[in-house]
Amino acid sequence: MDLNTVEAVHIPTRRDEVWPVGPSDAILAGGTWLFSEPQPQVSRLIDITRLGWPPITFSDDGMEIAATCSLAEIGSLTNTLPSDRPDWPAAPLFGQCCAALLASFKILGSATVGGNICLSFPAGAMISLASALDGTVTVWSADGSDYVVPIGEFVTGAGSNVLRSGDVLRSLWLPAHALRSPTAFRKLAPSPLGRSGVVVVGRRDEDDGQFVLSVTAATVRPHVFRFPLPPTAGEIRTALAAIAETEFTRDAHGDPDWRRAVTLTLAEQIRRELT
Ligand SMILES: Cc1cc2nc3c(=O)[nH]c(=O)nc-3n(C[C@H](O)[C@H](O)[C@H](O)COP(=O)(O)OP(=O)(O)OC[C@H]3O[C@@H](n4cnc5c(N)ncnc54)[C@H](O)[C@@H]3O)c2cc1C
Repeated sequence: MDLNTVEAVHIPTRRDEVWPVGPSDAILAGGTWLFSEPQPQVSRLIDITRLGWPPITFSDDGMEIAATCSLAEIGSLTNTLPSDRPDWPAAPLFGQCCAALLASFKILGSATVGGNICLSFPAGAMISLASALDGTVTVWSADGSDYVVPIGEFVTGAGSNVLRSGDVLRSLWLPAHALRSPTAFRKLAPSPLGRSGVVVVGRRDEDDGQFVLSVTAATVRPHVFRFPLPPTAGEIRTALAAIAETEFTRDAHGDPDWRRAVTLTLAEQIRRELT
């Protein structure tokens, strides 16, 4: 839709050109959300897609994904990683998480990893990916400094996060130890093409044997449980029971009691698959 209050579009090509960012400015990445509903408070867009950030940078320690990397690019890793990095069996998770987002191919080609994380919706598919793989995000502040936050601390609630005015999410880091882990993924939505109601991902860390279980979409922020050894069904049940009632998402895509029950069922399936 046309944002008819927007009077200017600023397109920085260097870090120092991004700021100042004022209260009526909005950071523009893929624009799939920004242009999907009225933004009456916005009079200027700051398009961060020309900053020249390489979408994905690989190293032996892990991978850095630029905030401006598209969902299509990150989803394609499921096809390319098995030959490029056969030691990273977490490859299927990239495509699975991208498919968890209700989107046409046009949206997947425009929507960015950073935009998805910054919206911080419970059904944020890139939040599911990052939570399952021990992701951390790097944020640029207006004063020229950076800070790094684990994704579980970045998202603070449904649609809320730690970003301060003028902060720009620069990248998501996924460490190699997590990428070396076999994973299992489950998603449920009330309708086949609907927004995710529950996403549960399990991971067997090959380095230290930990079993890691992440719950997203069902809850307003990510919940990650770590077990030193593969858990029993009872241990999974006890861990999930600790999630407070108010932490479960309540919206048109599912009530809290449904989300809690389904989370437990999917977590048990994952436990069996990975042990
Ligand atoms: C039909 C439809 C279905 C959708 N389904 C889902 C869904 O299932 N799950 C879901 O999570 N989302 C969904 N969305 C919302 C949105 O399309 C996605 O979250 C998408 O990934 C957002 O990325 P973007 O690059 O287009 O963000 P934009 O629209 O460009 O920006 C989104 C917000 O993040 C801010 N922002 C973007 N990048 C940065 C950055 N690097 N630093 C700081 N702030 C930044 C923007 O200022 C804006 O407030 C849906 C949207 C539509 C229209």
